[in-house]
Amino acid sequence: MDVKMKPQSLVMVIFGASGDLTRRKLIPALYLLYKHNRLPENFAILGVARTAFTDDEFRERIHLQLLRFVKPEDVNEEKIRSFVSLINYFPMDPADPDEYLRLQPRLLKLDQMIGNGENYIYYLATPPSLYGVIPQYLKNVGLNLSKGPKGNKRIIVEKPFGYDLESALELNNIYYKDAFREDQIFRIDHYLGKETVQNILALRFANTVFEPVWNRNYIDYVEVTAVENMGIEQRGGYFDDAGTLRDMVQNHLIQLVALTAMEPPTAFNPDSFRDELAKVYQSLTPLTEKDINQHIIRGQYTASEGRKAYREEKDVAPDSRTETFLAMKLSISNWRWSGVPFYIRTGKQMPTKVSEIVVHFKPTPFPLFNCAERTCPTANLLIIRIQPNEGIVLKFGLKVPGSGFDVKQVAMDFSYSSLGPIPTEDAYARLIEDCILGDSTLFTRSDAVEACWKYFTPVLEYWKNHPESPLYGYPAGTWGPREADMLIQEQNAEWS
Ligand code: NDP
Repeated sequence: MDVKMKPQSLVMVIFGASGDLTRRKLIPALYLLYKHNRLPENFAILGVARTAFTDDEFRERIHLQLLRFVKPEDVNEEKIRSFVSLINYFPMDPADPDEYLRLQPRLLKLDQMIGNGENYIYYLATPPSLYGVIPQYLKNVGLNLSKGPKGNKRIIVEKPFGYDLESALELNNIYYKDAFREDQIFRIDHYLGKETVQNILALRFANTVFEPVWNRNYIDYVEVTAVENMGIEQRGGYFDDAGTLRDMVQNHLIQLVALTAMEPPTAFNPDSFRDELAKVYQSLTPLTEKDINQHIIRGQYTASEGRKAYREEKDVAPDSRTETFLAMKLSISNWRWSGVPFYIRTGKQMPTKVSEIVVHFKPTPFPLFNCAERTCPTANLLIIRIQPNEGIVLKFGLKVPGSGFDVKQVAMDFSYSSLGPIPTEDAYARLIEDCILGDSTLFTRSDAVEACWKYFTPVLEYWKNHPESPLYGYPAGTWGPREADMLIQEQNAEWS
């Protein structure tokens, strides 16, 4: 498979095929690609997990799941039936190295049936505890490296990639120093597959008006918010161990910071783009204990208005100190951003689901006009709405019609929906297709993962070593602890 070339044939092996991610995201994404003729001509899926299914039982299950998880407008019974016929199942325990001796001939046989290309993509949708062993066991049976001119092996690894710096380094050692080359590894963060997240790049680098003011001279501070109104659903076992910092901040939120803060890449290719992202992570000002105490607020939702407390959720310890909310102030030590705080905020059981970046520009040097409203905007705002109502809003002051010279805030509001139906481009579909094409631009590189963990691991260690450090309760359905409001009030501001 050359970069950006679709192979003639491909087998996608999904480890964790009986799980939630496969059911809700991967299979629907693959179906969408199939429906739009974007999969290789000869394509098969091999689902792998310990649960015993025959091929037919697994196909039946996938069929029902597709009807449930695909949007009604995308359901096409005939297409679903033909897609499902591409799916096969292989029951095995991925933690047992001997099982790979059985997997290898099964995979080869399937490959021979569809074109003998020996192109395989392995998707790791298992518990993270297996992320380290699967590549090694694949390597043991020679399923890791391309053999001669034909065949290419790629591996997609789900988040979280590592639990802290040490485990991320260990994983990286296994992946790109031992079992696979860096260009075969696709560490997925589905945020980067979102159309609106990619549009941050277009907004910044396809226009000239923003770039001259996109720096410490004109920007006062930046807010990055990604909150949701749901709890942890059925994922208590995973979440209680991980917490919000690992689940959301170390990957999604910091990606949004990096896309906002990065320098323009010299070209839009995987190396240049990821070089610039990595530089942002490396420039994050290291957090001292004082910073952790003063600039990171963690919270946990409590019962409110019929909503359960976090500690009452299934598979959560009744005395859990896991954070379901985090707000923090971070800074970036480079010429562009020195002195500009980035405030980030994420939480579960908030009043609504919203992801957005708000760039607050500095006010004019002095106020020339009266304000027509109490909250007079003396500064411009650029809001990049990632979801919902995807769009971009520029707020600025304008004269109130009539006598006098009062100024009020108005908005130029661009909504993606005005372009017609928003492409139902699913983030997973986009990223899986990129992997098929061999394009790793939107996947996280090893140096970026390490730099992020290097930045956040002291926080995790501090919390572990200081169990008395505050964890504020907030009623489910509210905007988090008031201490988070106080954090941003230092800036004489409120969360947008
Ligand atoms: P599930 O627990 O629902 O599924 C795990 C899968 O792994 C099952 O198919 C399970 O099947 C299989 N498995 C194989 N070996 C083991 C083992 N030793 N112990 C437990 N399960 C095993 O997890 P999810 O699908 O939710 O998540 C999979 C991965 O994707 C996780 O790492 C998660 O962090 C990540 N992820 C999930 C998201 C989601 O929305 N669900 C979102 C983003 C990332 P069987 O028991 O049959 O072997």
